[in-house]
Amino acid sequence: MNAVNYDRLMLNALGAFAGKRLLLHSCCAPCSSYCLTEVAPHLRTTVLYYNPNLDCAEEYEKRKNEEIRFLKETGLADLLDCDYCPEDFEKVIVGYENEREGGARCTRCFRLRLEKCAFEAKKGGFDLFGTTLTVSPLKDAERINEIGFALEREYGVSYLPSDFKKRGGYQRSIELSKKYGLYRQNYCGCRFSKRDN
Ligand code: SF4
Repeated sequence: MNAVNYDRLMLNALGAFAGKRLLLHSCCAPCSSYCLTEVAPHLRTTVLYYNPNLDCAEEYEKRKNEEIRFLKETGLADLLDCDYCPEDFEKVIVGYENEREGGARCTRCFRLRLEKCAFEAKKGGFDLFGTTLTVSPLKDAERINEIGFALEREYGVSYLPSDFKKRGGYQRSIELSKKYGLYRQNYCGCRFSKRDN
């Protein structure tokens, strides 16, 4: 069976939903940089900053402030800001602490952040929700998209599929990060990824 081309599905959705409102979960400014250049010309976009997986408040603020600065400088999207609530992450990863990066702990982490995005999208009357997570070559786009489509059915808000790393997306995010002088962390985010880095 051929793998699903999530990038193609995204391009189709950008056409079908042109001018509609998107709530896009962002893990950090560098990842969102390229993703926003792809979606913002087509959709009225708001970035959701919700990342309770981050290992400490200082890192959370640092990444969030870079997101705010990037949005201010580019005007690509508005921001829906969430407080740092590490207890949300701790609850869902109990028993999965020793998973390798990319394993079952990450699946739960993806779902936690995407579910918040679906919830806020529904609450705020957005037409679509999505995430920047698929720009990372280290993250399984198929798993992320399957979670997104499951949440679409649960919450009744359309999910924007993506595989942002396609068409040179990851490389482009590095170039944009350099251009805007964005802080690029060297670990995914949680204390386990920092420990294993
Ligand atoms: S490695 Fe990254 S995706 Fe996996 S649990 Fe940690 S922060 Fe979440």
